[in-house]
Amino acid sequence: MIVVMRPTATQEEVDGVRRTVEENGLEAFLSVGEERTVIGVVGSDLERVAHLGTLDGVEQVIRISSPYKLASSEHQVERTRVRVNGVELGLGQELVVMAGPCAVESRDQLMETARSVKREGARVLRGGAFKPRTSPYSFQGLGLPALELLHEAHDTYGLPVISEIVDPADVPTFERHVDIIQVGARNMANFVLLKAVGQSRRPVLLKRGLSATIEEWLLAAEYILSAGNPNVILCERGIRTFETATRNTLDLSAVPVLRSRTHLPIVVDPSHGTGHRSLVGPMAMAGAAVGADGLIIEVHPDPANARSDGDQSLSFEEFGALMDELRRLQFVRAPEDERTPATTAAPIASDGIEEVRDRIDDLDARLGEMVQERAALALEVQRRRAPEAHGHDVRRERALLERAATGTAGPMSPVELTMVFDALLRASRSVQRRHARSVIEAEAASAGTGR
Ligand code: PEP
Ligand code: MN
Repeated sequence: MIVVMRPTATQEEVDGVRRTVEENGLEAFLSVGEERTVIGVVGSDLERVAHLGTLDGVEQVIRISSPYKLASSEHQVERTRVRVNGVELGLGQELVVMAGPCAVESRDQLMETARSVKREGARVLRGGAFKPRTSPYSFQGLGLPALELLHEAHDTYGLPVISEIVDPADVPTFERHVDIIQVGARNMANFVLLKAVGQSRRPVLLKRGLSATIEEWLLAAEYILSAGNPNVILCERGIRTFETATRNTLDLSAVPVLRSRTHLPIVVDPSHGTGHRSLVGPMAMAGAAVGADGLIIEVHPDPANARSDGDQSLSFEEFGALMDELRRLQFVRAPEDERTPATTAAPIASDGIEEVRDRIDDLDARLGEMVQERAALALEVQRRRAPEAHGHDVRRERALLERAATGTAGPMSPVELTMVFDALLRASRSVQRRHARSVIEAEAASAGTGR
């Protein structure tokens, strides 16, 4: 900490500052310049002299180190890795996608969602039990029964579950039923709650407050860490700005800023961050690209009839398509330099334009049949595996794309060929996914309403 004295400060005022520093067990180093005196303050507990700025003759106090200690990367250089039931967040691990409904509404809704998001590759199931709604008349969540359903979903599908806590007295109940405790944006500065979850042995996902600066957010994390819980995950979920086109303004620059200031894992919530279904995918991709350790995404079997946050919830199909995009981002290498193709495939005779067009029409008809034949085979693959099994093999797809991009000669560049095969793969997966869903729905129907 550096204390800058006013140019008019007297010797007594300088001595007053030095005395206060030393009386508090810290050291003061004076640097007397021609115009003014500057005092360096060193020691482990600078909070004790936080009031130096109010002493006579002091112009300003400059903090050099961050006010948060345990959360700071000055304090801990290695990045924290949070482990929950075999899932690891942080330290360059694979992006962890958490997904599920905003609120748990019923057993069917939760189990159906758990099954679907697991199949698509989500690693953690979310579901609100106690909903801190802006209006007291909005659906407040099912409470304890919802936590019990999350517990059941965990046991059935083997996914760790996350849910939001609102009352410090509920910590033991949450510890019994969930794997990660969420502190919501509206409670980021509820210091009683932060201390309570700080005493828990469960990891805590701490959302950024609606109007919290990054420093305030890290100080909130410091409450949890200093109470003894080292497993804190930060979640950027958008902040209040003047913009009304989105529900919040998703501050993705917070991710690299946090990366430079803290060792804690960082998750991005594009659902609350945007408030609109169509914006969730693009901002999820952006969050992944900017280096988040995880994403948390709202998914609902029937978003139009969701009891909360339907507008920003993805359907199963939309979530599946997003997961495909995320997989593509991680596993498929950038196409190689565009190469000039050797020659055209088949010599084109000196036909007139109409003849060439006729040949194109013929070819399109054959291509249409081949594309359908390919989809029928993909469907056969899906029929031969359980509906939960993931619809495709990423490694095989990558190999296919690489072969497709380089294996033929013609006017299309590798990038253009990749575009064509990419579209084919996407359409085939959509066929497989539709089939898997119909099997799941048929099973649910034949199981009756007993679930
Ligand atoms: C939630 O995740 O369900 C939620 C209420 O989020 P936030 O606290 O970010 O508004
Ligand atoms: Mn929500």
